[in-house]
Amino acid sequence: SISLQGVTKLFGGKKVADRITLDVADREFLVLLGPSGCGKSTLLRMLAGLEQVTSGEIHVGARRVDTLPPSARDMAFVFQSYALYPHMTVRRNITFPLIMRAHRWWFHLPLIGGLAKRRIEQQPAVRALVERTAKTLALTEMLEQYPRTLSGGQRQRVALGRAMVRQPDVFLMDEPLSNLDAKLRSSMRAEIIKLHREVGGTFVYVTHDQIEAMTMGTRIALMRDGVVQQFGTPRDIYTDPANTFVARFIGTPP
Ligand code: ATP
Ligand code: MG
Repeated sequence: SISLQGVTKLFGGKKVADRITLDVADREFLVLLGPSGCGKSTLLRMLAGLEQVTSGEIHVGARRVDTLPPSARDMAFVFQSYALYPHMTVRRNITFPLIMRAHRWWFHLPLIGGLAKRRIEQQPAVRALVERTAKTLALTEMLEQYPRTLSGGQRQRVALGRAMVRQPDVFLMDEPLSNLDAKLRSSMRAEIIKLHREVGGTFVYVTHDQIEAMTMGTRIALMRDGVVQQFGTPRDIYTDPANTFVARFIGTPP
C-alpha cells in the first residue's frame, strides 16, 4: 500500500502539489489524471524519489520512504520517452537492472566489465526471469535484436520488461503510451492491464487522457493546479462528479 500524507511541493513560490493525501491499496491501479501542468509528473517523481517533497510524508507499507534515496524504494519507473540503450540487445536491456543490482566498480572496465556483465546475464535464474518476462511481453523472438530494429510498441514493451524484472512492489508510469499511435496505444493499454493482473503490484499511472483513466484505473485521482479535486472509482467520478471542473474534464453529461 502507498500512503501520501499532506504531500506539498513548492517550485520557487509556486505550489505544484498542495497537501495531497491519498491511500492506495495493494494491487490497486491508481491513475493520476488532470490537464497539462497540474502536477501529475511531479507527484510521481516524488513517489519515485526523483524529486524531494517540500513537506508531508510518503509511506509504502509500514516504511516511510520520502526520506530514502530512489534505489532504496523498491519501485520501478517507466517514462514517456523510454530510453533504451542502443548498443545493447533487447536481452541486455531487460537484464540491465539486474546487472546494476550486482554492480561492482570493475564493471566499467572494457574487457573484464563486459565479461562480468555477461556472467550475470547467463546465470540460470537471471536467464529464466528475463525469458519469462520476454514471453509475457511477446518479445521472445527479439531478445538478440538491437532497439533500432524494433517498432515503437516493441521498444515500449522492452521498457516495460526492464521495469518488470526488478519485480518491484510498486510500478510508476508517466504517460508511457503517449509516443505511440492510436492503435498501438489501445493494444498497449490492454498489455499493461494484463501485466497488472499478472504481477499484482501497486500501479500508479499518470495520464491526461480521460478515456485511458476510465478504462485502466481501479481508482482515479483527478488533479488541478496541484490539488486533488476528486479521488474515487471511475464509476464514482463519472456518476457523481465533485464539482464542475471534474464534470467537464470527464465529460459527464449535464
Ligand atoms: P503534463 O501533462 O504536461 O506532463 P504535469 O501534470 O505532469 O503536466 P508537472 O510536470 O508535474 O505537470 O508540472 C507541474 C508544474 O510544476 C508546472 O507548472 C511546471 O512548470 C512546474 N515544474 C515542474 N518541474 C519543475 C522544475 N524542476 N522547476 C520548476 N518548476 C517545475
Ligand atoms: Mg507530466
